[in-house]
Amino acid sequence: MKNERITARMIAPCGLDCSICKRALAETDPCPGCLGPDEHKPEFCAKRCGIILCAKRREKGYEYCDECPDYPCGDVMEKENRYTSKYPLYESPKKNLQTIREIGMDRFLEQEREQWTCSECGHIVSVHTGICSGCGKQYGAVAVQVNGDTWRIENGMVRFFLLKGTDKALLIDTGMTVRHARKIAEALTGLPVELLNTHADGDHTGCNEAFESFYMHPADESHYRRSGKSGKVIPVQDGDEIDLGNRKLKIIHLPGHTPGSIAVLDEKYRVLISGDPIQEHGRIFMFGERRNMRDYILSLEKLEKRTGEFDEIWPSHADIPIYPGCIRKLRDGAQSILNGEAEGHQVEFFGQQITVYDLGFTTFLCNG
Ligand code: SF4
Ligand code: SF4
Ligand SMILES: [Zn+2]
Ligand SMILES: [Zn+2]
Ligand SMILES: [Zn+2]
Repeated sequence: MKNERITARMIAPCGLDCSICKRALAETDPCPGCLGPDEHKPEFCAKRCGIILCAKRREKGYEYCDECPDYPCGDVMEKENRYTSKYPLYESPKKNLQTIREIGMDRFLEQEREQWTCSECGHIVSVHTGICSGCGKQYGAVAVQVNGDTWRIENGMVRFFLLKGTDKALLIDTGMTVRHARKIAEALTGLPVELLNTHADGDHTGCNEAFESFYMHPADESHYRRSGKSGKVIPVQDGDEIDLGNRKLKIIHLPGHTPGSIAVLDEKYRVLISGDPIQEHGRIFMFGERRNMRDYILSLEKLEKRTGEFDEIWPSHADIPIYPGCIRKLRDGAQSILNGEAEGHQVEFFGQQITVYDLGFTTFLCNG
């Protein structure tokens, strides 16, 4: 297994795990890590990294920087800031050193192997690219700050959201392939982070297992359990309110795409975080046993009555932001499909026959 490359020898003095560096994962002339011989390292790490060059560290014989009275110095903080914010995946050298002190090197390395091994092929995922060095699977996530206390986190084809109040923060979904949604959220907000799922589809619950419990509508729990996932569901219903501290969120139940689909109304910014049912230039999945077009239309009709409460809609896929006017278009489009008036074409999708209705402003994928 390639992850046996994650060894104590690859942990740099600052705490960075060099085995997840793209240069260490390169097929030709892989870097041996900060502690290895200079001739196989890129120029920066061999000749310019202040931590490697640090005379104090060499003189005093510090194995790790946290033994130094100047820790964390400017060089250490530069590396910490870069690795916790600039790359598709999150790595905290400081947290690594802290963990090594708390649980010892062997258990730390076990955690690292678990965290950075590709679930598909067993090779190591690169922190710099977010891509598995063996099979190319994409694990990356990019956090984009929307305003002072809100982020959208783009994870390939899906996005999820992070909202901060004065008391706590809320992740709305955990994406599909990102590994450290919780760590990203804690680092960005500095607050305790709770999780809410807009629904139980796999592209929204990929990193749920980092949480012991999470808000979800109970009608989606059986689907969630079918995928073998753990954690305690804290049931939320239509009309419930979650207060993050000076930031009240209202739950709106929108069954149809799944029976337990919910949207979150952020009253502070007058934004509706809608999950999958509302999309423009996206693909709304309405095939398979859990989908229900009649419920979907009723949900949109219910939502249309509340468009005075929000100015923008932030969906999990495709265009963002979109605007309340699209709800009517989606409702009319869905009704025309249900009435047999819309024109569709059949395709095979994930081994099943479905009908694609491309309505221009969005596409519905339906049974049949
Ligand atoms: S290039 Fe630098 S950070 Fe990457 S493995 Fe080599 S020494 Fe470590
Ligand atoms: S923390 Fe201390 S040992 Fe480490 S690079 Fe900074 S000054 Fe050198
Ligand atoms: Zn892989
Ligand atoms: Zn979905
Ligand atoms: Zn989705």
